[in-house]
Amino acid sequence: MKKIVIAIDGFSSNGKSTMAKSLAKEIKYIYIDSGAMYRAVTLYCMEHGLFSGDTLDERRLHNEIDNVKVEFHLNKDTGTPDTHLNGENVESKIRSMEVSSKVSIVSAISFVRRAMVALQQEMGKAKGIVMDGRDIGTVVFPDAELKVFVTADAEIRARRRFDELRSKGDNKTTFDEVLENLKTRDYLDQTRAESPLVKADDAILLDNSYMTIDEQMQWLLQKFKQITTLNE
Ligand code: C5P
Repeated sequence: MKKIVIAIDGFSSNGKSTMAKSLAKEIKYIYIDSGAMYRAVTLYCMEHGLFSGDTLDERRLHNEIDNVKVEFHLNKDTGTPDTHLNGENVESKIRSMEVSSKVSIVSAISFVRRAMVALQQEMGKAKGIVMDGRDIGTVVFPDAELKVFVTADAEIRARRRFDELRSKGDNKTTFDEVLENLKTRDYLDQTRAESPLVKADDAILLDNSYMTIDEQMQWLLQKFKQITTLNE
């Protein structure tokens, strides 16, 4: 069967990664979490003293961006790719609230986006890929055969993210902090000049506020089957 590109975009913490990951496993495609790449660059900035509070030394990052190597390596236990930053597995570190609170500053910078988009396009060259993010259907793969734009109620998204943080041992972050961070990121992602978060005209809208993970997966699998049948 001819392989296609699947682009899944949408707001923060709406479960699109879970959905994209399960679909990729089921149809044996590569899964790439593009948000993890921006998170890894953010972690680099934090660990190399490029941040002073919320102010980023953009000039230094510009000089150092070529030293920021982001890669994905398959984790045999989970069956999904882990994010590596300059050789270190940072999959867990990049999910912290501190990274979440700074990532939108880094992802708004045009030279950072150019570098990440080039890497993402390289990864999708052979097709057979499911990538999720904010600009996958609009900028990275405007010709993707299947595009989905996921949305969900902000409080429901915050609850999911909060439960996830708790299950990973974060007992400090409050629900209100999670909700605030999510709303701020939505706002910054939608209003930035460079590749703002926007639904592609040809993307299918999915509001998953009241859907289980399994229902979302069945919905997506059905869309995939329809498209691949059409493309045969
Ligand atoms: O998907 P996730 O919430 O992990 O993404 C973290 C951040 O990375 C987003 O809030 C957004 O600022 C940025 N991002 C982006 N473009 C993408 C994916 C993520 O700007 N394609």
